[in-house]
Amino acid sequence: MKVPQIMTPGPTEVRENVRMARALATTNPDLDPQFYEFYKETCGKIGEFLKTKNSIRVLSGEGILGLEAACASLTEIGDRVLVIDNGIFGEGFADFVKMYGGEVVFFKGDRRHKINTLKLEEFLEKDNDFKYATVVHCDTPSGVLNDIDSICHLLKARGILTVVDSVAAMGGEDIRVDEWKIDIALGASQKCISAPAGLTLLSISEDAFKSMEQRKSPIASYYCNLLVWKSYYDDKWFPYTPPISDIIGLRQAIDNILEDKEIIARHDSISKATRKAITQGGLNLYIKEGYSNTVTVIEIPNGINDKELLKYMLKEFNVFIAGSFGYLQGEVIRIGHMGENAKKDKVAYTLLALQNSLKALGFQCKKDMVEVFFSEVH
Ligand SMILES: *Cc1c(COP(=O)(O)O)cnc(C)c1O
Repeated sequence: MKVPQIMTPGPTEVRENVRMARALATTNPDLDPQFYEFYKETCGKIGEFLKTKNSIRVLSGEGILGLEAACASLTEIGDRVLVIDNGIFGEGFADFVKMYGGEVVFFKGDRRHKINTLKLEEFLEKDNDFKYATVVHCDTPSGVLNDIDSICHLLKARGILTVVDSVAAMGGEDIRVDEWKIDIALGASQKCISAPAGLTLLSISEDAFKSMEQRKSPIASYYCNLLVWKSYYDDKWFPYTPPISDIIGLRQAIDNILEDKEIIARHDSISKATRKAITQGGLNLYIKEGYSNTVTVIEIPNGINDKELLKYMLKEFNVFIAGSFGYLQGEVIRIGHMGENAKKDKVAYTLLALQNSLKALGFQCKKDMVEVFFSEVH
């Protein structure tokens, strides 16, 4: 397989030391006590990175498993759940809530802006009888970044549990689970964490576990049941055989993040410089307020076909960027600068490829985006 430079908003490039860690010899992870220690230590490091004392679990399954597991474990039939929606993943939570019998109430925000917390507060003054609420940190198809700190404080002050999809943010954006009052924070291996796809990680608060334990009806799933993971360490029992090589790889990826003290600042600087280059080049950003540090979403100029553009970039420059989906299909293109891809040289090359490909297809940028990028980035 000829591997292109993948500058999509996940999966991201996997560093060599993570790939090598996945190739190490392994023990029996169900029976060998050493693996329980390794798993627990790995969870401890994830907690350090998410700034939380809450329980951490790593489950075998891509990021979507975490979203479904949170909803499956919390929702009982008839529960009212607030779904905060200003993007495709935000709206998508409603499907999981309904699937497990919950009653969805939407709080809808403008899709080009971060959630307006004053409006949310007004809404909650009138109606706050919800078991839990869901919200997305960075909604990747549009690149909007929500203010999780303020949103979760408003919810928790009214006794509403908070479920946050930070799959495309954690590792590239600041996240403080305890300070921000996140009951369940969800992440996945393949975005900013820069390990291969296949693992979901969750931090689960005591309040969240308590709510699951106080259910009147059992959780209608096994794979998505977070309670079966509660006492794995005391019992020395995993609900199913953990994918040991994936977890050894994840551990190396987490170590890489913890060693990298500049990681959030670098994402911040690179994303700001990218946005400056894009706008100075004469292109428009999709988002108007609430820019994520991990993905830049750009409107496709008139006369350019997104599929043709992406194909040209791949063929001529070996760079892979993304289109989008849902209501954004054919409207925008997306550059991921997350995790291992938040590197100056990679983003500069991507901008070079973009501007030359646009030119070949008939759109001339107003300024040299690479020059603007390098003049802005630290
Ligand atoms: C990537 C992502 C997920 C996981 O979904 P896949 O598209 O299946 O990888 C969940 N939430 C968000 C916000 C994501 O960006």
